[in-house]
Amino acid sequence: MDNIRVRFAPSPTGFLHVGNARTALFNWLFARHNRGTYILRIEDTDEERSTGEYEEKLIEDLEWLALEWDEGPVKGGGSGPYRQSQRLNIYQSFTEKLLEEGKAYYCFCSIEELEKEKKQAVSRGETPVYSGKCRMISLEDAKKRICAGEQGVVRLKTPGKGELSFEDLVRGRVCFNLKYQGDPVLVRSSGLPAYNYAVVIDDSLMKITHVIRGEDHLSNMPRQLLTYEALSFPPPKFAHLSMVMGEDNTRLSKRHGATSVDQFKTDGILSAALINYLALLGWAPSDGSEVLTLEDVVRQFDILKVSKSAAIFDYDKLHWLNRQHMRKLIPSEQAKQSYPYLYKAGLMPEEQDMSGNHWEWLEKAMEYFIEKVDHFSDLPEHFNALFEFSLDELDVEAQEILNSECAGKVLKSIADKIKKIVLLDFDKYAELTKEIKAETGCKGKDLFRPLRVALTTKTSGLDLDKFIPLVEEGARLVFPKPMLNCALRITKVIDHIKLK
Ligand code: GLU
Repeated sequence: MDNIRVRFAPSPTGFLHVGNARTALFNWLFARHNRGTYILRIEDTDEERSTGEYEEKLIEDLEWLALEWDEGPVKGGGSGPYRQSQRLNIYQSFTEKLLEEGKAYYCFCSIEELEKEKKQAVSRGETPVYSGKCRMISLEDAKKRICAGEQGVVRLKTPGKGELSFEDLVRGRVCFNLKYQGDPVLVRSSGLPAYNYAVVIDDSLMKITHVIRGEDHLSNMPRQLLTYEALSFPPPKFAHLSMVMGEDNTRLSKRHGATSVDQFKTDGILSAALINYLALLGWAPSDGSEVLTLEDVVRQFDILKVSKSAAIFDYDKLHWLNRQHMRKLIPSEQAKQSYPYLYKAGLMPEEQDMSGNHWEWLEKAMEYFIEKVDHFSDLPEHFNALFEFSLDELDVEAQEILNSECAGKVLKSIADKIKKIVLLDFDKYAELTKEIKAETGCKGKDLFRPLRVALTTKTSGLDLDKFIPLVEEGARLVFPKPMLNCALRITKVIDHIKLK
């Protein structure tokens, strides 16, 4: 396809919802698959709800998802400005034109009057539609009233009868009855354009060829198509994506769990995993594979194969995919991605204080812990097992093991030997246990369980062949919470037993 141009047009009125992120992704994929142009346009004409902070956050989240745009804020481009609040003069010039051509008119009806009309229609059992009363006011009179300070909106003249249809790339042919389509407001009394008006002008001037957006905008189609017609702009092609739902078939909301890109990021989901998951919401590659890179998806993406059924958000599947993507990362990347979560939990030093040895240690630790988690945010609780060494909170079983006759002998024996070892590794530990066995006569569980509890304070969980080198090497590094080496752990446990 030639010169494909698509856009993602968010309103900066809140955090980026995964439903919108999926719209951004499908636009981006469509553009990349067809070597087209992907535009970011900020729809910030809702003055009360749009904020600069939300716009910044939105841009940050899109960058994190690696959905970079070819034209848009920050980047610029030949169809700017890309913020609707900076395009007001453009909308105004088209409004003038529509008014002059008699395709639009000023309406001075008050909110009270409109409400009254609405109530009357409802009481007659009719669908409320604006009566078109102000169509009678001539443009000249209307302008005089506006100049005199009266407030008015600008409405589009619509036929009020007949049908209108269009071919949606996802949903097929969609028809609307225009009987209930009153004259929509194009420009509010504040002078700001209504969404349905600005979007048509922007999509036309930005030469958008395909509008891919959520199905919640389907009901806006009659207004938008009539506006295209009034402005003599050819409409682009449309693809309305089904909504993202929770498992109970209601719109995905906080009730179901995390819904914003920011929250998934905080929860330790990799952007590659989130993108992979969002791509599969309503679309699937022909071979049915599920763990995909962005390049895989770009290669295979086909908007015509997007399903029109509701897409159900499955958190378990996202977590499963995250695990797959986490494991696929190279060790240095695993360390890099885990760092912010560990730093935030107070376990790692400031980034400038992370030495080459720290990173090496973190890589080694991640090799071990990556198997244990679905998200990076679950890592601190696992790393805590290396940093924490509290004998005051031993469980009953651990305490009983330490009170056994063998424990006393085994720990005394290892304490003498371990002092002479500079850096204990697992091979040396295995040799030590053989010597201890010969010396104390304790074997099997009686030998290994006291050692495990003494080193880890736990009766199970950590593999000592991994744990021992990690704490030995970690004890030589500077961390916000110092790590104890094995010798110190044994000494502390011996003191603890004596105290009892
Ligand atoms: N600003 C609209 C929204 O965030 C965009 C709708 C569209 O893509 O036309 O829902």
